[in-house]
Amino acid sequence: MDQSLTSAAGLALQGTFHRMIELSRAEPAPTLQQRLDRLSRLRALLKDNEKRFEQAISADFGHRCTIETTIAETLGLLGDIKHTSKHLKRWMAPRKVATQLQFMPGKNRLLPQPLGVVGVIAPWNYPLQLTLAPAIGALAAGNRVMIKPSELSPNFAALLRETIAAKFDATEMVVTGIEDGIAEAFAALPFDHLMFTGSTRVGRIVASVAGRNLTPVTLELGGKSPTIIDRSADLDEVAPRIAYAKLMNAGQTCIAPDYVLVPHDSLDELTGKISGAMQRMYGSDPANPDYTSIIADHHYARLQSLVEDAAAHGAKLLQPAAADDAAWKSKRKFPPTLVLGATPDMKIMQEEIFGPLLPILGYGTPAEAIAFINGRDRPLALYWFGKDDAARDEVLARTVSGGVTINDCLVHFAQANQPMGGVGPSGSGAYHGEWGFNTFTKLKPVFYRSPYNRFADLQPPYGGKIARVIKMMRLMS
Ligand code: NAD
Repeated sequence: MDQSLTSAAGLALQGTFHRMIELSRAEPAPTLQQRLDRLSRLRALLKDNEKRFEQAISADFGHRCTIETTIAETLGLLGDIKHTSKHLKRWMAPRKVATQLQFMPGKNRLLPQPLGVVGVIAPWNYPLQLTLAPAIGALAAGNRVMIKPSELSPNFAALLRETIAAKFDATEMVVTGIEDGIAEAFAALPFDHLMFTGSTRVGRIVASVAGRNLTPVTLELGGKSPTIIDRSADLDEVAPRIAYAKLMNAGQTCIAPDYVLVPHDSLDELTGKISGAMQRMYGSDPANPDYTSIIADHHYARLQSLVEDAAAHGAKLLQPAAADDAAWKSKRKFPPTLVLGATPDMKIMQEEIFGPLLPILGYGTPAEAIAFINGRDRPLALYWFGKDDAARDEVLARTVSGGVTINDCLVHFAQANQPMGGVGPSGSGAYHGEWGFNTFTKLKPVFYRSPYNRFADLQPPYGGKIARVIKMMRLMS
Protein backbone atom coordinates (compact mmCIF):
# COMPACT_ATOMS: atom_id res chain seq x y z
CA MET A 1 0.00 0.00 0.00
CA ASP A 2 1.17 3.50 -0.81
CA GLN A 3 2.77 5.03 2.32
CA SER A 4 0.66 8.17 2.06
CA LEU A 5 -2.55 6.15 2.37
CA THR A 6 -1.83 4.70 5.80
CA SER A 7 -2.82 7.78 7.83
CA ALA A 8 -6.34 7.97 9.31
CA ALA A 9 -7.18 10.73 6.82
CA GLY A 10 -5.86 8.61 3.96
CA LEU A 11 -7.91 5.59 5.04
CA ALA A 12 -11.05 7.75 5.39
CA LEU A 13 -10.41 9.03 1.87
CA GLN A 14 -10.24 5.49 0.55
CA GLY A 15 -13.42 4.50 2.44
CA THR A 16 -15.37 7.42 0.96
CA PHE A 17 -14.08 6.63 -2.50
CA HIS A 18 -15.03 2.95 -2.31
CA ARG A 19 -18.54 3.72 -1.07
CA MET A 20 -19.02 6.09 -3.98
CA ILE A 21 -17.68 3.57 -6.48
CA GLU A 22 -20.00 0.82 -5.17
CA LEU A 23 -23.05 3.08 -5.39
CA SER A 24 -22.09 4.39 -8.81
CA ARG A 25 -22.10 0.78 -10.06
CA ALA A 26 -25.32 -0.17 -8.23
CA GLU A 27 -27.19 2.98 -9.32
CA PRO A 28 -25.39 4.13 -12.44
CA ALA A 29 -27.98 6.47 -13.96
CA PRO A 30 -29.39 9.32 -11.84
CA THR A 31 -32.54 10.76 -13.42
CA LEU A 32 -32.84 14.26 -14.83
CA GLN A 33 -34.79 15.23 -11.71
CA GLN A 34 -32.06 13.97 -9.37
CA ARG A 35 -29.38 15.86 -11.29
CA LEU A 36 -31.41 19.08 -11.39
CA ASP A 37 -31.97 18.73 -7.66
CA ARG A 38 -28.21 18.43 -7.06
CA LEU A 39 -27.58 21.54 -9.18
CA SER A 40 -30.27 23.43 -7.36
CA ARG A 41 -28.75 22.52 -3.98
CA LEU A 42 -25.41 23.79 -5.26
CA ARG A 43 -27.05 27.03 -6.30
CA ALA A 44 -28.64 27.42 -2.84
CA LEU A 45 -25.30 26.68 -1.19
CA LEU A 46 -23.65 29.47 -3.17
CA LYS A 47 -26.39 31.99 -2.54
CA ASP A 48 -26.75 31.21 1.17
CA ASN A 49 -23.03 31.43 1.83
CA GLU A 50 -21.88 34.11 -0.61
CA LYS A 51 -20.57 36.48 2.06
CA ARG A 52 -18.92 33.68 4.03
CA PHE A 53 -17.07 32.50 0.92
CA GLU A 54 -15.91 36.07 0.21
CA GLN A 55 -14.56 36.36 3.75
CA ALA A 56 -12.90 32.94 3.79
CA ILE A 57 -11.19 33.55 0.44
CA SER A 58 -10.07 36.99 1.53
CA ALA A 59 -8.64 35.55 4.76
CA ASP A 60 -6.62 33.04 2.72
CA PHE A 61 -5.18 35.74 0.44
CA GLY A 62 -4.55 38.22 3.24
CA HIS A 63 -6.88 40.41 1.22
CA ARG A 64 -8.98 39.47 -1.80
CA CYS A 65 -11.05 42.21 -3.45
CA THR A 66 -14.62 41.05 -2.80
CA ILE A 67 -15.90 42.44 -6.11
CA GLU A 68 -13.43 40.12 -7.85
CA THR A 69 -14.80 37.17 -5.91
CA THR A 70 -18.31 38.13 -7.03
CA ILE A 71 -17.43 38.74 -10.67
CA ALA A 72 -14.85 36.05 -11.30
CA GLU A 73 -16.19 33.30 -9.08
CA THR A 74 -19.76 33.46 -7.73
CA LEU A 75 -21.59 35.00 -10.69
CA GLY A 76 -19.83 32.75 -13.20
CA LEU A 77 -20.88 29.68 -11.21
CA LEU A 78 -24.48 30.80 -10.82
CA GLY A 79 -24.60 31.44 -14.58
CA ASP A 80 -23.08 28.04 -15.27
CA ILE A 81 -25.68 26.28 -13.06
CA LYS A 82 -28.50 28.14 -14.81
CA HIS A 83 -27.17 27.34 -18.29
CA THR A 84 -26.57 23.69 -17.41
CA SER A 85 -29.98 23.22 -15.77
CA LYS A 86 -31.68 24.77 -18.80
CA HIS A 87 -30.00 22.51 -21.35
CA LEU A 88 -29.48 19.33 -19.34
CA LYS A 89 -32.51 17.44 -20.66
CA ARG A 90 -31.24 17.85 -24.23
CA TRP A 91 -27.64 16.97 -23.33
CA MET A 92 -28.81 13.77 -21.59
CA ALA A 93 -30.95 12.59 -24.50
CA PRO A 94 -29.65 9.86 -26.84
CA ARG A 95 -27.99 11.57 -29.81
CA LYS A 96 -28.88 10.64 -33.39
CA VAL A 97 -25.97 9.56 -35.55
CA ALA A 98 -26.16 8.90 -39.30
CA THR A 99 -25.98 5.30 -40.55
CA GLN A 100 -24.23 4.23 -43.77
CA LEU A 101 -26.38 2.70 -46.49
CA GLN A 102 -25.01 -0.83 -46.09
CA PHE A 103 -26.11 -0.97 -42.42
CA MET A 104 -29.62 0.35 -43.00
CA PRO A 105 -32.30 -0.01 -41.88
CA GLY A 106 -30.31 -0.49 -38.67
CA LYS A 107 -29.63 2.72 -36.72
CA ASN A 108 -26.93 4.42 -34.67
CA ARG A 109 -27.31 6.29 -31.42
CA LEU A 110 -24.86 7.84 -28.94
CA LEU A 111 -26.00 7.19 -25.39
CA PRO A 112 -24.65 9.67 -22.79
CA GLN A 113 -23.83 7.71 -19.64
CA PRO A 114 -22.30 8.85 -16.31
CA LEU A 115 -18.71 7.71 -15.86
CA GLY A 116 -19.11 7.02 -12.12
CA VAL A 117 -16.85 8.84 -9.65
CA VAL A 118 -15.01 12.01 -10.65
CA GLY A 119 -12.09 13.50 -8.69
CA VAL A 120 -11.41 17.25 -8.78
CA ILE A 121 -8.05 18.71 -7.70
CA ALA A 122 -8.12 22.52 -7.55
CA PRO A 123 -5.69 25.42 -7.09
CA TRP A 124 -6.01 28.41 -4.75
CA ASN A 125 -6.22 31.34 -7.17
CA TYR A 126 -9.99 31.17 -7.84
CA PRO A 127 -10.76 28.45 -5.32
CA LEU A 128 -14.56 28.57 -5.52
CA GLN A 129 -14.73 28.71 -9.31
CA LEU A 130 -12.13 26.00 -9.85
CA THR A 131 -13.61 23.51 -7.39
CA LEU A 132 -17.26 23.99 -8.33
CA ALA A 133 -17.20 24.63 -12.10
CA PRO A 134 -15.85 21.10 -12.70
CA ALA A 135 -18.35 19.80 -10.10
CA ILE A 136 -21.26 21.34 -12.04
CA GLY A 137 -20.26 19.47 -15.19
CA ALA A 138 -19.62 16.24 -13.30
CA LEU A 139 -22.92 16.33 -11.34
CA ALA A 140 -24.90 17.26 -14.45
CA ALA A 141 -23.37 14.27 -16.20
CA GLY A 142 -24.68 12.08 -13.35
CA ASN A 143 -21.44 11.41 -11.49
CA ARG A 144 -20.48 11.38 -7.84
CA VAL A 145 -17.79 13.90 -7.02
CA MET A 146 -14.80 14.15 -4.66
CA ILE A 147 -13.07 17.54 -4.40
CA LYS A 148 -9.56 18.22 -3.10
CA PRO A 149 -9.00 21.99 -2.56
CA SER A 150 -5.56 23.60 -2.27
CA GLU A 151 -3.62 23.61 0.99
CA LEU A 152 -3.00 27.34 0.39
CA SER A 153 -6.76 27.98 0.87
CA PRO A 154 -7.40 26.52 4.36
CA ASN A 155 -10.28 28.87 5.33
CA PHE A 156 -12.00 28.34 2.02
CA ALA A 157 -11.44 24.57 2.09
CA ALA A 158 -12.97 24.25 5.57
CA LEU A 159 -16.01 26.30 4.54
CA LEU A 160 -16.53 24.39 1.30
CA ARG A 161 -16.29 21.12 3.21
CA GLU A 162 -18.83 22.27 5.79
CA THR A 163 -21.34 23.67 3.29
CA ILE A 164 -21.15 20.71 0.90
CA ALA A 165 -21.58 18.29 3.81
CA ALA A 166 -24.69 20.24 4.85
CA LYS A 167 -26.32 20.05 1.41
CA PHE A 168 -25.05 16.76 -0.05
CA ASP A 169 -24.99 13.19 1.08
CA ALA A 170 -21.42 11.91 1.48
CA THR A 171 -22.05 9.50 -1.40
CA GLU A 172 -23.08 12.33 -3.77
CA MET A 173 -20.31 14.87 -3.31
CA VAL A 174 -17.61 15.37 -0.67
CA VAL A 175 -14.70 17.69 -0.01
CA THR A 176 -11.57 16.06 1.38
CA GLY A 177 -9.15 17.47 3.89
CA ILE A 178 -5.98 19.23 2.79
CA GLU A 179 -3.50 17.66 5.23
CA ASP A 180 -0.04 16.58 4.11
CA GLY A 181 -0.17 13.51 1.91
CA ILE A 182 -3.84 13.87 0.90
CA ALA A 183 -3.06 15.40 -2.51
CA GLU A 184 -0.81 12.48 -3.47
CA ALA A 185 -3.22 9.88 -2.05
CA PHE A 186 -6.12 11.55 -3.86
CA ALA A 187 -4.38 11.50 -7.25
CA ALA A 188 -3.60 7.81 -6.75
CA LEU A 189 -7.28 6.80 -6.36
CA PRO A 190 -8.60 4.94 -9.42
CA PHE A 191 -11.24 7.53 -10.32
CA ASP A 192 -13.40 7.12 -13.40
CA HIS A 193 -12.13 10.57 -14.38
CA LEU A 194 -9.73 13.00 -12.72
CA MET A 195 -9.88 16.73 -13.32
CA PHE A 196 -6.73 18.60 -12.34
CA THR A 197 -6.37 22.38 -12.38
CA GLY A 198 -2.96 23.69 -11.41
CA SER A 199 0.60 24.15 -12.55
CA THR A 200 2.17 22.35 -15.49
CA ARG A 201 4.81 20.93 -13.11
CA VAL A 202 2.28 19.22 -10.81
CA GLY A 203 0.09 18.35 -13.82
CA ARG A 204 2.92 16.12 -15.11
CA ILE A 205 3.04 14.27 -11.76
CA VAL A 206 -0.75 13.88 -11.55
CA ALA A 207 -0.99 12.62 -15.15
CA SER A 208 1.69 10.03 -14.51
CA VAL A 209 0.16 8.80 -11.23
CA ALA A 210 -3.33 8.63 -12.81
CA GLY A 211 -1.80 6.81 -15.77
CA ARG A 212 -0.94 3.87 -13.51
CA ASN A 213 -4.69 3.34 -13.00
CA LEU A 214 -5.49 4.24 -16.61
CA THR A 215 -7.66 6.99 -15.13
CA PRO A 216 -8.49 9.53 -17.84
CA VAL A 217 -7.41 13.05 -16.85
CA THR A 218 -8.42 16.52 -17.89
CA LEU A 219 -5.48 18.86 -17.27
CA GLU A 220 -6.19 22.57 -16.91
CA LEU A 221 -2.67 23.96 -16.59
CA GLY A 222 -0.83 27.26 -16.82
CA GLY A 223 1.89 28.87 -18.92
CA LYS A 224 2.85 32.14 -20.50
CA SER A 225 -0.08 33.70 -22.38
CA PRO A 226 1.11 36.27 -24.95
CA THR A 227 -0.62 39.46 -26.06
CA ILE A 228 0.12 40.80 -29.54
CA ILE A 229 -0.54 44.44 -30.28
CA ASP A 230 -0.90 44.89 -34.02
CA ARG A 231 0.21 48.11 -35.68
CA SER A 232 -3.48 48.83 -36.43
CA ALA A 233 -4.48 48.82 -32.72
CA ASP A 234 -5.76 51.87 -30.89
CA LEU A 235 -3.39 52.07 -27.91
CA ASP A 236 -5.83 54.14 -25.84
CA GLU A 237 -8.29 51.27 -26.08
CA VAL A 238 -5.68 48.57 -25.54
CA ALA A 239 -3.95 49.96 -22.43
CA PRO A 240 -6.81 49.82 -19.87
CA ARG A 241 -7.92 46.38 -21.06
CA ILE A 242 -4.43 44.96 -20.55
CA ALA A 243 -3.95 46.79 -17.24
CA TYR A 244 -7.22 45.43 -15.89
CA ALA A 245 -6.63 41.84 -17.05
CA LYS A 246 -3.11 41.89 -15.60
CA LEU A 247 -3.99 43.36 -12.21
CA MET A 248 -7.23 41.51 -11.56
CA ASN A 249 -6.51 39.16 -8.63
CA ALA A 250 -3.04 40.82 -8.69
CA GLY A 251 -2.12 38.84 -11.78
CA GLN A 252 -2.79 35.48 -10.11
CA THR A 253 -4.94 34.37 -13.03
CA CYS A 254 -4.10 31.42 -15.26
CA ILE A 255 -5.16 33.30 -18.40
CA ALA A 256 -3.73 36.71 -17.41
CA PRO A 257 -1.65 38.32 -20.18
CA ASP A 258 1.84 37.12 -19.26
CA TYR A 259 3.77 39.40 -21.63
CA VAL A 260 3.04 41.93 -24.37
CA LEU A 261 4.52 42.11 -27.88
CA VAL A 262 4.21 45.54 -29.51
CA PRO A 263 5.86 47.10 -32.60
CA HIS A 264 9.22 48.62 -31.55
CA ASP A 265 8.19 52.17 -32.39
CA SER A 266 5.02 51.96 -30.24
CA LEU A 267 6.71 50.43 -27.20
CA ASP A 268 7.27 53.65 -25.25
CA GLU A 269 3.82 54.99 -26.01
CA LEU A 270 2.06 51.76 -24.98
CA THR A 271 4.17 51.47 -21.82
CA GLY A 272 3.17 55.00 -20.78
CA LYS A 273 -0.49 54.29 -21.45
CA ILE A 274 -0.54 50.97 -19.55
CA SER A 275 1.28 52.60 -16.66
CA GLY A 276 -1.25 55.45 -16.66
CA ALA A 277 -4.18 53.02 -16.78
CA MET A 278 -2.80 51.00 -13.85
CA GLN A 279 -2.33 54.19 -11.87
CA ARG A 280 -5.87 55.38 -12.63
CA MET A 281 -7.42 52.01 -11.71
CA TYR A 282 -5.48 51.15 -8.58
CA GLY A 283 -3.72 54.34 -7.40
CA SER A 284 -0.65 54.20 -5.16
CA ASP A 285 -2.05 53.12 -1.83
CA PRO A 286 -1.34 49.49 -0.93
CA ALA A 287 -4.38 49.60 1.33
CA ASN A 288 -6.65 50.04 -1.72
CA PRO A 289 -9.36 47.37 -1.20
CA ASP A 290 -9.70 46.86 -4.98
CA TYR A 291 -6.18 45.43 -5.15
CA THR A 292 -5.68 41.83 -4.05
CA SER A 293 -2.76 40.47 -2.00
CA ILE A 294 -0.32 37.76 -3.04
CA ILE A 295 -1.45 34.40 -1.66
CA ALA A 296 1.64 33.48 0.39
CA ASP A 297 5.07 34.70 1.42
CA HIS A 298 6.86 32.20 -0.80
CA HIS A 299 4.93 33.43 -3.84
CA TYR A 300 5.81 37.03 -2.88
CA ALA A 301 9.48 36.05 -2.66
CA ARG A 302 9.20 34.26 -6.03
CA LEU A 303 7.88 37.45 -7.69
CA GLN A 304 10.60 39.51 -6.02
CA SER A 305 13.23 37.15 -7.36
CA LEU A 306 11.77 37.39 -10.90
CA VAL A 307 12.05 41.18 -10.73
CA GLU A 308 15.56 41.11 -9.24
CA ASP A 309 16.78 38.59 -11.81
CA ALA A 310 15.37 40.74 -14.65
CA ALA A 311 17.01 43.87 -13.24
CA ALA A 312 20.33 42.07 -12.74
CA HIS A 313 20.25 41.03 -16.41
CA GLY A 314 19.67 44.60 -17.58
CA ALA A 315 15.87 45.03 -17.70
CA LYS A 316 14.37 48.39 -16.79
CA LEU A 317 11.56 48.35 -14.21
CA LEU A 318 8.69 50.79 -14.10
CA GLN A 319 6.31 50.83 -11.14
CA PRO A 320 3.26 53.04 -11.78
CA ALA A 321 2.56 53.16 -8.04
CA ALA A 322 6.09 54.09 -6.95
CA ALA A 323 5.98 53.50 -3.25
CA ASP A 324 7.52 52.46 -0.05
CA ASP A 325 8.34 48.76 -0.41
CA ALA A 326 7.73 47.99 3.26
CA ALA A 327 4.15 49.32 3.15
CA TRP A 328 3.32 47.02 0.24
CA LYS A 329 5.10 44.05 1.71
CA SER A 330 3.37 44.36 5.08
CA LYS A 331 0.07 43.77 3.26
CA ARG A 332 1.63 41.14 1.00
CA LYS A 333 0.63 43.31 -1.96
CA PHE A 334 3.06 43.43 -4.85
CA PRO A 335 3.35 46.79 -6.61
CA PRO A 336 2.37 46.54 -10.30
CA THR A 337 5.64 46.38 -12.26
CA LEU A 338 6.25 46.86 -15.99
CA VAL A 339 9.44 45.20 -17.22
CA LEU A 340 11.16 46.70 -20.26
CA GLY A 341 14.00 45.10 -22.18
CA ALA A 342 13.26 41.56 -20.98
CA THR A 343 15.29 38.90 -22.80
CA PRO A 344 14.87 35.12 -23.11
CA ASP A 345 17.71 34.45 -20.65
CA MET A 346 15.75 36.10 -17.82
CA LYS A 347 13.65 33.91 -15.52
CA ILE A 348 10.70 36.22 -16.10
CA MET A 349 10.62 35.10 -19.74
CA GLN A 350 11.05 31.44 -18.88
CA GLU A 351 8.40 30.69 -16.27
CA GLU A 352 4.76 31.63 -15.83
CA ILE A 353 4.69 34.97 -13.93
CA PHE A 354 1.40 34.56 -12.04
CA GLY A 355 1.61 38.01 -10.45
CA PRO A 356 1.38 41.72 -11.32
CA LEU A 357 4.57 41.90 -13.42
CA LEU A 358 4.27 42.64 -17.13
CA PRO A 359 7.16 42.39 -19.58
CA ILE A 360 6.54 44.57 -22.65
CA LEU A 361 8.71 43.58 -25.62
CA GLY A 362 9.18 45.22 -29.02
CA TYR A 363 8.92 43.35 -32.33
CA GLY A 364 9.81 44.21 -35.94
CA THR A 365 7.43 42.36 -38.27
CA PRO A 366 4.24 40.42 -37.40
CA ALA A 367 6.05 37.26 -38.56
CA GLU A 368 8.68 37.89 -35.87
CA ALA A 369 5.99 38.12 -33.18
CA ILE A 370 4.42 34.87 -34.38
CA ALA A 371 7.83 33.14 -34.47
CA PHE A 372 8.52 34.31 -30.90
CA ILE A 373 5.30 32.67 -29.70
CA ASN A 374 5.80 29.51 -31.75
CA GLY A 375 9.31 29.13 -30.34
CA ARG A 376 7.79 28.52 -26.90
CA ASP A 377 5.28 26.17 -25.27
CA ARG A 378 1.77 26.40 -26.66
CA PRO A 379 0.01 28.89 -24.38
CA LEU A 380 -3.27 28.60 -22.47
CA ALA A 381 -4.53 31.92 -23.90
CA LEU A 382 -3.51 34.35 -26.61
CA TYR A 383 -4.69 37.93 -27.03
CA TRP A 384 -4.58 40.03 -30.17
CA PHE A 385 -5.44 43.70 -30.48
CA GLY A 386 -5.97 45.57 -33.74
CA LYS A 387 -8.28 46.46 -36.61
CA ASP A 388 -6.49 44.71 -39.50
CA ASP A 389 -8.53 41.54 -40.10
CA ALA A 390 -5.93 39.96 -42.38
CA ALA A 391 -3.21 40.39 -39.73
CA ARG A 392 -5.56 38.96 -37.10
CA ASP A 393 -6.41 35.91 -39.23
CA GLU A 394 -2.71 35.31 -39.89
CA VAL A 395 -2.06 35.10 -36.14
CA LEU A 396 -5.12 32.86 -35.61
CA ALA A 397 -3.99 30.53 -38.39
CA ARG A 398 -0.34 30.31 -37.40
CA THR A 399 -0.49 29.98 -33.62
CA VAL A 400 -2.04 27.24 -31.49
CA SER A 401 -3.32 28.13 -28.01
CA GLY A 402 -5.98 26.99 -25.54
CA GLY A 403 -8.24 29.96 -26.37
CA VAL A 404 -8.17 33.47 -27.82
CA THR A 405 -9.84 36.79 -27.12
CA ILE A 406 -9.63 39.41 -29.86
CA ASN A 407 -9.43 43.06 -28.77
CA ASP A 408 -9.67 42.22 -25.08
CA CYS A 409 -8.28 39.78 -22.53
CA LEU A 410 -9.86 36.99 -20.43
CA VAL A 411 -13.35 37.22 -21.95
CA HIS A 412 -13.27 33.94 -23.89
CA PHE A 413 -13.20 32.16 -20.50
CA ALA A 414 -16.68 33.46 -19.68
CA GLN A 415 -18.39 32.05 -22.79
CA ALA A 416 -20.91 29.42 -21.69
CA ASN A 417 -20.98 27.76 -25.12
CA GLN A 418 -17.21 27.54 -25.69
CA PRO A 419 -14.80 24.92 -24.31
CA MET A 420 -12.20 25.99 -21.75
CA GLY A 421 -8.93 24.10 -21.94
CA GLY A 422 -5.27 24.25 -22.88
CA VAL A 423 -3.15 22.50 -25.45
CA GLY A 424 0.04 20.52 -24.84
CA PRO A 425 1.93 21.95 -21.86
CA SER A 426 -1.00 24.29 -21.05
CA GLY A 427 -3.40 21.38 -20.70
CA SER A 428 -5.53 18.77 -22.39
CA GLY A 429 -9.27 18.20 -22.46
CA ALA A 430 -11.87 20.89 -21.82
CA TYR A 431 -14.93 21.79 -19.80
CA HIS A 432 -17.62 24.48 -19.22
CA GLY A 433 -21.25 24.03 -20.27
CA GLU A 434 -21.92 21.15 -22.64
CA TRP A 435 -18.18 20.60 -23.04
CA GLY A 436 -17.96 19.80 -19.33
CA PHE A 437 -20.99 17.52 -19.55
CA ASN A 438 -19.33 15.61 -22.42
CA THR A 439 -15.97 15.42 -20.60
CA PHE A 440 -17.56 13.68 -17.62
CA THR A 441 -19.80 11.46 -19.75
CA LYS A 442 -19.23 8.23 -21.62
CA LEU A 443 -20.77 8.91 -25.01
CA LYS A 444 -21.51 5.28 -25.78
CA PRO A 445 -22.01 4.38 -29.44
CA VAL A 446 -24.78 1.82 -29.90
CA PHE A 447 -25.80 0.14 -33.17
CA TYR A 448 -29.34 -1.25 -33.29
CA ARG A 449 -29.51 -4.07 -35.84
CA SER A 450 -32.62 -4.30 -37.94
CA PRO A 451 -34.24 -7.67 -38.67
CA TYR A 452 -34.06 -6.69 -42.34
CA ASN A 453 -30.26 -6.32 -42.55
CA ARG A 454 -28.54 -8.68 -45.02
CA PHE A 455 -25.69 -9.55 -42.59
CA ALA A 456 -26.55 -13.26 -42.95
CA ASP A 457 -25.34 -12.98 -46.57
CA LEU A 458 -21.80 -12.47 -45.21
CA GLN A 459 -21.69 -15.75 -43.30
CA PRO A 460 -20.06 -18.98 -44.51
CA PRO A 461 -20.36 -21.16 -46.36
CA TYR A 462 -19.20 -18.51 -48.85
CA GLY A 463 -20.94 -19.22 -52.13
CA GLY A 464 -21.78 -17.09 -55.13
CA LYS A 465 -23.82 -14.61 -53.07
CA ILE A 466 -20.74 -13.31 -51.19
CA ALA A 467 -19.14 -12.18 -54.47
CA ARG A 468 -22.26 -10.10 -55.20
CA VAL A 469 -22.24 -8.61 -51.70
CA ILE A 470 -18.52 -7.74 -51.90
CA LYS A 471 -19.04 -6.14 -55.31
CA MET A 472 -21.82 -4.00 -53.87
CA MET A 473 -19.70 -3.05 -50.85
CA ARG A 474 -16.81 -2.02 -53.13
CA LEU A 475 -19.15 0.33 -54.96
CA MET A 476 -20.04 1.94 -51.64
CA SER A 477 -16.46 2.20 -50.34
P1 NAD B 1 -0.26 23.66 -8.00
O1 NAD B 1 0.02 22.83 -9.20
O2 NAD B 1 0.86 23.94 -7.08
O3 NAD B 1 -1.41 22.97 -7.11
C1 NAD B 1 -2.67 22.63 -7.66
C2 NAD B 1 -3.31 21.53 -6.82
O4 NAD B 1 -2.50 20.37 -6.94
C3 NAD B 1 -3.41 21.84 -5.33
O5 NAD B 1 -4.67 21.39 -4.85
C4 NAD B 1 -2.29 21.00 -4.73
O6 NAD B 1 -2.57 20.58 -3.42
C5 NAD B 1 -2.29 19.80 -5.66
N1 NAD B 1 -1.05 19.03 -5.66
C6 NAD B 1 0.20 19.47 -5.39
N2 NAD B 1 1.08 18.44 -5.51
C7 NAD B 1 0.35 17.34 -5.85
C8 NAD B 1 0.66 15.97 -6.11
N3 NAD B 1 1.91 15.52 -6.04
N4 NAD B 1 -0.33 15.13 -6.43
C9 NAD B 1 -1.61 15.57 -6.52
N5 NAD B 1 -1.97 16.86 -6.30
C10 NAD B 1 -1.01 17.72 -5.97
O7 NAD B 1 -0.91 25.00 -8.55
P2 NAD B 1 -1.36 26.27 -7.74
O8 NAD B 1 -0.17 27.02 -7.30
O9 NAD B 1 -2.38 25.89 -6.74
O10 NAD B 1 -2.12 27.08 -8.90
C11 NAD B 1 -1.47 27.89 -9.82
C12 NAD B 1 -1.31 27.21 -11.16
O11 NAD B 1 -2.56 26.74 -11.63
C13 NAD B 1 -0.80 28.16 -12.23
O12 NAD B 1 0.15 27.49 -13.01
C14 NAD B 1 -2.04 28.47 -13.03
O13 NAD B 1 -1.78 28.88 -14.36
C15 NAD B 1 -2.77 27.18 -12.97
N6 NAD B 1 -4.19 27.38 -13.20
C16 NAD B 1 -4.74 26.91 -14.34
C17 NAD B 1 -6.09 27.13 -14.60
C18 NAD B 1 -6.75 26.66 -15.86
O14 NAD B 1 -7.97 26.75 -15.94
N7 NAD B 1 -6.02 26.17 -16.83
C19 NAD B 1 -6.86 27.83 -13.66
C20 NAD B 1 -6.25 28.28 -12.51
C21 NAD B 1 -4.92 28.05 -12.27
